[in-house]
Amino acid sequence: MNFELCRRTANLRAISDIVAVSTANIRAATITMKTRAEHIPSQPILAGIEAGGTSFRCAVATKPTQIVDQVSFATTQPQETVQRVQEFFSRFPGLKHLGLATFGPVDLDTGRITDTPKNSWQHFPIQSSLERLLGLPCALHTDVAAAALAEATYGSAAGALVYITVGTGIGGAAIGGHLDLAHTRPTEMGHLYVPRAIGDDFAGICPYHGDCVEGLASGPALAARWHQPPEELAADHPAWTMQTHYLSHLCLAVMRTLAPEHIILGGGVMQAPQLIERVRRHIQTLLGDYHDQKITVSLPSLMPDSGLIGALELAYRAAAVSHTAGIRPS
Ligand SMILES: [Zn+2]
Repeated sequence: MNFELCRRTANLRAISDIVAVSTANIRAATITMKTRAEHIPSQPILAGIEAGGTSFRCAVATKPTQIVDQVSFATTQPQETVQRVQEFFSRFPGLKHLGLATFGPVDLDTGRITDTPKNSWQHFPIQSSLERLLGLPCALHTDVAAAALAEATYGSAAGALVYITVGTGIGGAAIGGHLDLAHTRPTEMGHLYVPRAIGDDFAGICPYHGDCVEGLASGPALAARWHQPPEELAADHPAWTMQTHYLSHLCLAVMRTLAPEHIILGGGVMQAPQLIERVRRHIQTLLGDYHDQKITVSLPSLMPDSGLIGALELAYRAAAVSHTAGIRPS
């Protein structure tokens, strides 16, 4: 196996398909990609929302990587939260398209949040509510799929990539390259079972499966296991050896089933010092001499903006498809 850290300048290459798979019954969807000639408008026409379970980030932009203004606030009750969204975007009358990268689980067909533990958000029609409030068409996908889209379009990883977020939950999205998964059933990477670390008898916290990888290695699982928040765990704490074990096995499962060229590990837990290097090394150890698979394993190159840029990219592509926003695909 040959790990390589590749850094590339932002590119605007075409990607044919995106499929989202996450911890939260994310539905697969195809987004038709267009190559495009750049025409940068003089005022922001794109609105993007990274709707997280903890906080909302909103941005306006002339193109996905050219953010003009942005705001962040806590996620509270749905009506109160979308009201704050409206207050921000109402300052920009030239907006044409909205991209929404949301926490889940979300039904991409109906645009509703579904069975989230955040009770007040259950079955909330987030897509139609925002369209009505803002008067903009809203392109919707999951936060993890949007992050994958941004990394594939503007980040350092070209080709087939899997984006895995390790935070409040664990979820993944596979995109582009030779992977054509657009019409497959959605899977849930975060709920795979991986081998137990030696001596680990923690029951796991997934309410559905107990000790799936999310139940063992998400941020809340770390907090419950070690009785302190992950960000307070020292770099030499044994927690990170165990975390390396679980994330490496998750990556290995992804490699063996999807054969991506890149795995990008994002989310708050991945900001722990040295964790990405340890995971990278441990995957090599686990692989041994079996099947020399060329792959890179890295942090998001757009961190911490992958999801927000992904939301703007959703809007950008919707604008390109509709030909109404002054951006013409070539
Ligand atoms: Zn689970």
